[in-house]
Amino acid sequence: SQNHSCRSFTFFSLFFVLFVSQVPPTIIRLKEPERRHDTCIEFTVRGSPHPVLRWFYQDKEISHTEYVRPDMDIYLDYIEGCLTFKNPTHHNNGNYTLEARNYLGIATSTVYGHFLEKPFVIPTAETHIPEEDTFGVSIAVGLAGFALSLMLVVLFLLINKYGGRSKFGMKGPVAVISGEEDSASPLHHVNHGIISPCTLDAGPAAVVIGMTRIPVIENPQYFRHGHNCNKPTTYVQHIKRRDIILKRELGEGAFGKVFLAECYNLSPTKDKMLVAVKTLKDPTLAARKDFQREAELLTNLQHEHIVKFYGVCVDGDPLIMVFEYMKHGDLNKFLRAHGPDAMILVDGQPLQTSGELGLSQMLHIASQIAAGMIYLASQHFVHRDLATRNCLVGNGLLVKIGDFGMSRDIYSTDYYRVGGHTMLPIRWMPPESIMYRKFTTESDVWSFGVILWEIFTYGKQPWFQLANNEVIECITQGRVLERPRLCPKEIYDIMLGCWQREPQQRLNIKDIQKMLFTLMKATPVYLDILG
Ligand code: AMP
Repeated sequence: SQNHSCRSFTFFSLFFVLFVSQVPPTIIRLKEPERRHDTCIEFTVRGSPHPVLRWFYQDKEISHTEYVRPDMDIYLDYIEGCLTFKNPTHHNNGNYTLEARNYLGIATSTVYGHFLEKPFVIPTAETHIPEEDTFGVSIAVGLAGFALSLMLVVLFLLINKYGGRSKFGMKGPVAVISGEEDSASPLHHVNHGIISPCTLDAGPAAVVIGMTRIPVIENPQYFRHGHNCNKPTTYVQHIKRRDIILKRELGEGAFGKVFLAECYNLSPTKDKMLVAVKTLKDPTLAARKDFQREAELLTNLQHEHIVKFYGVCVDGDPLIMVFEYMKHGDLNKFLRAHGPDAMILVDGQPLQTSGELGLSQMLHIASQIAAGMIYLASQHFVHRDLATRNCLVGNGLLVKIGDFGMSRDIYSTDYYRVGGHTMLPIRWMPPESIMYRKFTTESDVWSFGVILWEIFTYGKQPWFQLANNEVIECITQGRVLERPRLCPKEIYDIMLGCWQREPQQRLNIKDIQKMLFTLMKATPVYLDILG
């Protein structure tokens, strides 16, 4: 009977194949992707023999890549599948045509794929205006300028403090309205430093939108402690040049070289100690003043998870800032060195793989950064550039927030240049910071979510597969980073909690730390791989 059923099946199949083998292709379904949500164009095609499928975008044949490829299931008399996109952006918007062909004929069908809107970003003073629009834009700019001038007058009456940006990256004041290259940036250019709240210099403290200058509203809390105009309370330690012996270069930041050095007479218990010194060459008078203020800010920030600042050396050139030395360098480099692809190279030859970080170590790293952030938030201090490249790693997996904006040169691809000098770390920024340059404790929480993602990908660049303008588009239209392959759901849920579009709905950094502690209890920390 088994034989019989086999035979009848074969007969049936033969009959079916003969019967259906004469069908020209028809496209039964080609579904328009749902805006923002879909990353696929679904299709169903009938025809026998099975038609060969080709896809066209704006009449040009699509070659299959990691970013656009057809996935399909082939059935006896039809094919069903999806033209799949990986992180589509507005560049993918347009007409998609499916062509199905067999020897009996051809069928084509077209849908419009509308994935994302073109992003809206506040233009900077240097935004290029196309020539043909110049007249219309001039009128618009003129009107906007007039309106903004009125606002300016009102704001001048209302605001009694003006702030700017710190040369050494201390990002205290919160720019609520901004647009000019330096003030708008969470970072800043070497020729513009922090603006003293004591000097009502409307120059760099104002920003330009169109042709009108608007004052930056600083975080009013920030200068309350120790930055009274009449009575500065901060004493910055001065270190003698002869007490600093440079040993070797550690790296180069946007403001100059960073060296490993020996420093004498710094510690009451030790004759000399290792330190990291950051140098600023050929400073202008203004840069010197900024340097001094910067040092005051750094002196005031003291916490076990903020890199320790020892003092300055200002007798002669270059100006020097002295920090504690963190043996394992920046966290991004560290993560890459302890990822699955890491190799120790000796004379260019791979020698052995270095130890891979485990879940408990990743949680330990994250919770220490959270601790540093809780402290910064308690000081009403908005960092604006939290990323693993700006954290440092010391002995025993000790992690500290260690850089306040000096790392743009090495990691220049992490920043997006708008206008002349503004470099924005857009891949770490929430929609409101990208669109309105609004930086708050909540925007720092968003960046913390990205730090978690970096940790669980062993230091990958967020949205590495996308160009900067595509990243802006994705973030402003509500797309978030995918769950890293090795990341448990509970941790991805924390990331998602940091990436809520509404700043007020984001997790609070204290709650994040509690959640990390709970997860850590389930996974004890092993620190054995590090000396
Ligand atoms: P930065 O200018 O702060 O970005 O520093 C440039 C490089 O110097 C970074 O890649 C760090 O690895 C290294 N570096 C900066 N500060 C320290 C420090 N306190 N201890 C050890 N390495 C540091």
